[in-house]
Order: sequence, then structure tokens, then C-alpha cells
Amino acid sequence: MASLRTLETALQRLRSAFSDLPGIDQAFPLSVSESDGQRLTHVLLEVADRLRDNYPYFHPLYAGQMLKPPHPVARLAYELALHINPNNHALDGGRASSAMEKEAVAALARMIGWDTHLGHLCGGGTMANLEALWIAGQLHPGKTILASTQAHYTHQRIAGVLGLPFETIPCDRAGRMEVPALARRLAAGGVGTVVATIGTTATGAVDPLDAIVELRGRYDFRVHADAAYGGYFLLVNDLAAETRRAFDTIGEAASVVIDPHKHGLQPYGCGCVLFRDPSVGRLYYHDSPYTYYTSTDMHLGEISLECSRPGAAAVALWATQKLFPLVPDGEFAKGLASGRAAALALYERIKKDGRFVTGSPPELDILVWAPRATRISDASAITQRIFDEAARRQLHLALVTLPVHLIDVQDMHRDQDTIICLRSVLMKPEHREWVDRIWSILDAAAGAVGAARR
Ligand SMILES: *Cc1c(COP(=O)(O)O)cnc(C)c1O
Repeated sequence: MASLRTLETALQRLRSAFSDLPGIDQAFPLSVSESDGQRLTHVLLEVADRLRDNYPYFHPLYAGQMLKPPHPVARLAYELALHINPNNHALDGGRASSAMEKEAVAALARMIGWDTHLGHLCGGGTMANLEALWIAGQLHPGKTILASTQAHYTHQRIAGVLGLPFETIPCDRAGRMEVPALARRLAAGGVGTVVATIGTTATGAVDPLDAIVELRGRYDFRVHADAAYGGYFLLVNDLAAETRRAFDTIGEAASVVIDPHKHGLQPYGCGCVLFRDPSVGRLYYHDSPYTYYTSTDMHLGEISLECSRPGAAAVALWATQKLFPLVPDGEFAKGLASGRAAALALYERIKKDGRFVTGSPPELDILVWAPRATRISDASAITQRIFDEAARRQLHLALVTLPVHLIDVQDMHRDQDTIICLRSVLMKPEHREWVDRIWSILDAAAGAVGAARR
């Protein structure tokens, strides 16, 4: 395989850099002995067998949750780095990979319009949001954190961990935070931080960040943008006007979270937190009695809650950004735009078909819909059956429970406040070419459960 040969070539180059060390061939082996190799193969084949028990996340017919394999450049760079296994806690543990992390994070900061920043990679969006809200809590001690009812559940849990009060603000029909309700809550006082979600996990709705930021003229609060899922859509140029306005104000937030392991082509274990004001670094202050010795340069562990962190994750992200620079409407952005076009196309097909009711048009690449039925409770039950029938036909969708007002349920009897919907995240560029296939399987699955056509 070409990619494995590339890896071998790069490994040889890496090893040759250490060739003046005694016994380098044993210390940095490029192959294993014949007998070890047989045992290793045996185990690896068993692993391959075990891994069959998965949905085919790599395939365009997997159109369910936010899942896709990393790009080959990320996989190869990660594997290459594992032969060093650097630890980006301190420069003592990973000089090159720490430098690469600083460069990769600076590129993300520039993407949101910041020439200066403080930031680093971390385990994922949960850790990144925890750090952002931990800093926010230190600057506004004891004050309330607000997020929309559609914000990721992690914010409420994080507030619990931090011992800060947490409240939700209702959403409009599009799943975006309601600004008048936010303004009323701000007027009542005691609010330290407002979390704006830039791409909700359920439907990809984008909170009106521009309007939220404007409220800072009247009230003193900190804005945190949770762009874990949606952040990279900043580079896509055909967003709806309202969505665009929100993205254009991301740089006004005090802190931003973006998950390279969601839409940044990375393996899991790669989130990123960014602060606009680098001086918040003082709030991280601690002294490590063990590690900060070989350099007076900034060690990433000095500005990070996690101690040991994978240098390989930084190397993989750096390599990916080298191949796909974060430029508006560039090759990487076009991949995101393809997924969004797929979501819009599938949404139109579903909306036109009398058997379904839909949510608002997708702002990013996520769509939700439900079968039309007499009662909401019936629709929820049929959803589950369509989900199963689609899976039997190799189309893997997701399910989501939503407040009824997010779906245009028309004349359905509202016997419940929430409705179980079908949800599809079309995050692979290939999804665009597969929309017809996806639709025809959905059509057949709905037909099989006898969803009522009108
Ligand atoms: C995925 C997600 C999170 C949580 O991030 P993890 O990487 O899963 O820890 C938080 N907020 C939003 C909006 C997300 O989409």
C-alpha cells in the first residue's frame, strides 16, 4: 500500500536523524523478528475480527452520528510520531511536537481572526469547554453561566464540576438561542458568562452570536463560543446570511472551542481551546517540580489543565493543516461545503415528500425529520421503525429527541412535548454524490413501515 510505503520512508528518515546513537537498530527497530511477527499477526487478526462489530463509519451510507475516520495524512503523521511518543506537557517531553502544536493552534486562532491568542490542544470538546468555563468562572466568581436549551449537555455538567450556577435560555423554532429571552435574563443580573453554540450537536443550529455580542454594550458578561462541531464552517462561503453573521463575530468571543476531531480530519483525542486575551495564562499559574527545566520558553503544560498530552495529536493536526491550509473556500472548505450541499439536497427531497415533517433547513450539514402521523407519539414510534428498516438496507441514520416546537409538525396531535426524530450528519464530502442513494433507501425504508403518504 502506497500509504504504508510512505510511512516506512518517513520512519527511515526519522531514524537516520538519531543514527549516531549506539545500538540504534535495536533501540528504534523498523521491523519485528520472525517469531514475534507471527504472534503479533495472530493478535492483530483477532483485533480485525473484533473491530467488525462496528457501523461502517468510513462509508457514505453511514450517515448517522458525527463520525468519520481521520484523513490518511493525520493517521500517518500520528503513527510516525508514535515512534517518538512525545508528551506535549513540557518541552522536556516533546520539543518538536510542542512547537508544531503552537503553530497548528495559531493557525486555528488566525482562522477566527486573532493575531494574538492563548490556546492549546486537549482531549476533546469537553475538556476544552471545561477550561474555557474554568477561566470564565475565575474572572466572574460565583456568577451564573447561561447556555441555550439546545447547548451540549456538557456545559451543565461542567458548571456542576466548577460549582457555578447554570441556567438555560429557550430556543426559537430553528433551535437558536432566543435573544429577547437572553436579554431579559441578563437584565435580572448575576450572569457571568453566556455560552453561544456555533453548531448545536443535535441539529447544527448556530446561535445568533452577533446579537449576543451586541448585548455586551448593555450588560457586563463574558461570551464563550462553543464551536466544537461547527467552527471550521467559518471557511465555507455559501452559508445562509444569518449563519454567516454569527460566524463573522466569532472573533468577538472571549474564548472559542473547536474540535479538530470532529470536522478537522483528526483521530479522537483532539480538541482545542482558544482565548482572545493571552494574559488569562496567569490564571493557569502553577509550578511543576518535575518538568520545566530544560527551557525557559513556555511549556504547554503551564497553560493547560491536563498534564500529559499526546504530542502525536499535535503532529497529526500540523501535518493535516500543511496539506489542507485553513483558507476560506480552499480545498478543505470545499469538502465541508459538499457535506452541507448534501444535507440541503436531502432536506429538500424529504420536505417535498408527504410522508415526512421536517425541522428548519440545515444551517450546517445536519438535518432532522420525522414521519407524519396522527399523533406525535405515533410519529416517534414510526421513527424508530424507519431507523431499523434503513439500517437493514445498510443506511445508518441517527435518532434524536427534540422539543416539538423545533419540528414543523403541522396538524399532528401534540400528545407529547418531545418527538423522536431521524437525524443525519452528512459530514463526508462524498455524501454529495450519495444523496440519491441515501434518499432511495430512506424511501424504501419508509415504504416498508407503511409511513402514510399524502
Ligand atoms: C461534540 C461537542 C461537544 C463535546 O465535545 P467532545 O469532543 O465530544 O468532548 C461539546 N459541544 C459541542 C457543540 C459538540 O458538538
